[in-house]
Amino acid sequence: MSEEKKTIKISPIKKGTVIDHIREGQSLKVMKILGLTETVVKDVVSIAMNVESSVGKKDIVKVENREIGSDELDKISLISPETTINIIRDYTVVQKKRVQLPERIKGIVKCKNRNCISNQREPIEPEFKVMSGEPVNIKCIYCEREMKEEEISENIV
Ligand SMILES: [Zn+2]
Repeated sequence: MSEEKKTIKISPIKKGTVIDHIREGQSLKVMKILGLTETVVKDVVSIAMNVESSVGKKDIVKVENREIGSDELDKISLISPETTINIIRDYTVVQKKRVQLPERIKGIVKCKNRNCISNQREPIEPEFKVMSGEPVNIKCIYCEREMKEEEISENIV
């Protein structure tokens, strides 16, 4: 039970998604990815930042009445690879998954190199190879420009 003391009890929600183990300070970016920073959001959202956990500090975001899809999970994995997703129905966790950094990323991030062919008029979707996950580092398959975490979160589309 001693370990239990350290974990924060998240107040239950009836239906929706609990996004847990978000890297400290990244919850606002997660919200941006999920479109929750728009002014017209009707979902009930709760955020906990800098929560103490057994592996250091973390952020938690709860979104009521919405289940997060796999496209959104891929995006979250780019800025916070340790994140876990709990899908809640009727106050019960029906699905628990960890985001997974894909080997390739297509169409989620745009290349920061403005002269890159993927930023020109050609119908080419930006595509990156994931070089490492800790810290996250991706490389454009067209111009070989590498992008780190801060640049990635600025260029998420
Ligand atoms: Zn490029």
